[in-house]
Amino acid sequence: MSEFALIDRIRQRAGTRADVILGIGDDAAVLRVPEGQDLVVSTDTLIADVHFPADTAAADVGWKALAVNLSDLAAMAAQPAWVALALSLPEADGDWLDAFLDGFLELAAQHDVALIGGDTTRGPLSITITAHGFVARDAALRRSGAKAGDDVWVTGTLGDAAGGLAQWRRGGLMSAKLRHRLDRPTPRIDAALALRGIAHAAIDLSDGLVADLGHVLEQSGVGAEIDLGRLPTSRPLAEHFADEHERWRLQLAGGDDYELCFTAAPADAFAIEQAMAACDTTATVIGRIRADAGLQLFTLEGTDFVLPVAGFDHFPAKDA
Ligand code: ADP
Ligand code: MG
Repeated sequence: MSEFALIDRIRQRAGTRADVILGIGDDAAVLRVPEGQDLVVSTDTLIADVHFPADTAAADVGWKALAVNLSDLAAMAAQPAWVALALSLPEADGDWLDAFLDGFLELAAQHDVALIGGDTTRGPLSITITAHGFVARDAALRRSGAKAGDDVWVTGTLGDAAGGLAQWRRGGLMSAKLRHRLDRPTPRIDAALALRGIAHAAIDLSDGLVADLGHVLEQSGVGAEIDLGRLPTSRPLAEHFADEHERWRLQLAGGDDYELCFTAAPADAFAIEQAMAACDTTATVIGRIRADAGLQLFTLEGTDFVLPVAGFDHFPAKDA
């Protein structure tokens, strides 16, 4: 297939929306931002064997590439609208592209997201997506809003994707349920929209709870204590990782969860539980924001837990 044929295939299948004045086909897209809304924009790249095992099914790659970008919009409490897709492909494989679009467009349709443009090049498999969404003026949820005394919440369960990846790295079989969580993360859009006006600060968990919550603490000028016994744990993770300390390491530093971590006043706990139940999402209080800096992790016995590695870093400091 030629580059033109690939793009044409994408254009034929891409959805549209009334606010897309001009989509795929010209030199640039023309988009109409609703009155009174702020435009929220985020970009994320996925590279084979860095962000997903190279043997991942094309449909799962398509889903995940979009999901991690929508997760960033969710973390800002933005309603997704448009995405651009820059694809680098080792070869012009129409079957691979169709399967990729199956996963990508399935998730896009769930959130009424239109694919409005992109770029197609030859190179190692890599997908860069730029996602655009809306939030009422000045209502975006930031990392900097956490207040001393806030509850610290997370949606869903933690550590599943990291558990699957750990099994894969060992060369063993990956549990199908853990693999599903790795390949098909759920961007917590509905939960995020329901938290507008309630949550004080939010972030999505891509690099691991300790690293990502750390950004919230730093930008908010606060600290936190986390109760490891309260970390929400799926049954498959508990079954495959019986050792509590190994499991905590996955949940704290494994990454790839794409759950939301947010803080809110304890008085709003009931409202949050109801809001989450209304959008079929679980959310759990795992600790509390403190005025003094630092993150303290408590084991079930109330002793400090020390993490060897805080989270994923593409450019870790070299040993001296
Ligand atoms: P140009 O050379 O002007 O950048 P391109 O040939 O790269 O034009 O793109 C032509 C049109 O196809 C543009 O509207 C562009 O946004 C769209 N397009 C190219 N690649 C993709 C892609 N992977 N996904 C969606 N739209 C794409
Ligand atoms: Mg181009």
